[in-house]
Amino acid sequence: MNVDYIIVGFGLAGLAFAEELLEANKTFVVYEDESQTSSLVAGGVYNAVILKRYTPVWNAKEQLETALSFYQKLEKRFKVKFDQKFQTKKVFKSIEDQNNWFAASDKPKLSSFIDPKIENQKRDGIVADFGFGNVNQTGRIDTKKLVDVYRVYLKLGRKIRYEKFEHQQIKFNEDQLKYKDITANRIVFCEGFGLKQNLFFNYLPLNEVKGELLTIHAPELKIDFLLKSSIFVLPLGYNHYKVGATFNWKDKTSEPSEEGKLDLVEKLKKVIDVPYEIIDQTAGVRPTVRDRRPMIGKHPAYSNLVVLNGLGTRGVMIAPTVAKQLFNHLENGGELDPETDIKRFE
Ligand SMILES: Cc1cc2nc3c(=O)[nH]c(=O)nc-3n(C[C@H](O)[C@H](O)[C@H](O)COP(=O)(O)OP(=O)(O)OC[C@H]3O[C@@H](n4cnc5c(N)ncnc54)[C@H](O)[C@@H]3O)c2cc1C
Repeated sequence: MNVDYIIVGFGLAGLAFAEELLEANKTFVVYEDESQTSSLVAGGVYNAVILKRYTPVWNAKEQLETALSFYQKLEKRFKVKFDQKFQTKKVFKSIEDQNNWFAASDKPKLSSFIDPKIENQKRDGIVADFGFGNVNQTGRIDTKKLVDVYRVYLKLGRKIRYEKFEHQQIKFNEDQLKYKDITANRIVFCEGFGLKQNLFFNYLPLNEVKGELLTIHAPELKIDFLLKSSIFVLPLGYNHYKVGATFNWKDKTSEPSEEGKLDLVEKLKKVIDVPYEIIDQTAGVRPTVRDRRPMIGKHPAYSNLVVLNGLGTRGVMIAPTVAKQLFNHLENGGELDPETDIKRFE
C-alpha cells in the first residue's frame, strides 16, 4: 500500500491532522493501539479565559474561531451534535477575587468573554458566599463521541488499524518510508503521552499530568451552566454531571484511583450541598509541556518523521489550529510559529 501519510495515534491531535489530510485529498492510514485515553475522558470544555488568573488563553480569539468552525463542520458531516454551548459561572472566593474579576473584565483581550457584573443571586444547591461571574462563549465538545464517530468513519474507509505502531520497524528508503506493508511519504506522531516510547521524539520534554473525573447523578442540582470553582461541575443532561478534574504529576497510569475519587469528593463538598450518587469514574494522562505550548514540527535528522503533541489541558481549542499550521508547513513550506516549533528544544 502506498500512502501520503501514516498517522500514529487517534486522539484529538490525530483527528485534527486527519481532517487536514481529508480536506486536501491526501491518502493516509492511522495506527491506534488504545493505550492512552486523554481525548476519550476529557471534560471537553472550551473557554478563552484562564480562570485561575483571569488572563486570556494564548491566541484565544483566533483559536476559538478556528475550533468552533472545525467542530461545526464535523457536526454537519456526521449529522451528530458534538458542541454543547453554555455559560460558565465562576464562583468567587473573596471580595478581592471579585475585584480582580472586575479589573480583568476591562482588559481588551478579555472584555468580550468576561461579563463585569457580579451575580449575587443565591442558587439552590450551590455553595457560593461571594457570588458568581459569568464567562461567555464557552461550551463543551463531547470528545468521546467525536473520536468514536470519526474512528468508525475511518474504519468504514479502511483507514485505521487497531494495532501498536512499532517505531523500530520503520525503514528509510531514499525519500520515502516503509513500515510493514505500507510505503509513506511522512509519518506524523500524535501519540499523546505515548510519545515517551517513541524512539525518535522521546527527547522532547513532555510532562505527564494525570487527570480524573467523576460522573454524578444529582437530581436536586438544577443547573444548565458550567459551574467553576476549585473543580468544575458540567451538566450532561438528565440530572447527570461531570465533575473534575484532578491534577496528579506522579501517577502515569490511565486507571481511575481511590485517591482521585477522594480528592474530588472532598472538593465537591465545598461546591454543592445537595445529595448525589457517583455513577462513573474515568482517568487519562494529559500531554503537557512546561512552557504550555504545543510541540509540532519535523525531526531534526529525519525530516519525514513529524510530531504533533503537547496539547496539554486545552486540546479542544488548540488542536485544529496547530494541525492546520503543521499541514501548511509540511505541504506548502509555511513557517511554524517559533513558540510551537520543536526547534525551541534543539
Ligand atoms: C481528566 C482530563 C480532563 C480534561 N479536560 C479537558 C477539557 O475540559 N478541555 C480540553 O480542551 N482538554 C481537556 N483535557 C486535555 C485533552 O484531553 C488533551 O489535550 C487531548 O486529549 C490530547 O490529545 P492527543 O491526541 O494529543 O492525545 P491522546 O488523546 O492521548 O491521544 C493519543 C493517541 O495515541 C495512541 N497511541 C499512543 N502511542 C501509540 C502507538 N505506539 N501506536 C498506536 N497508537 C498509539 C493512544 O492510544 C491515543 O489514542 C483533559 C484531559 C484529561 C485527562
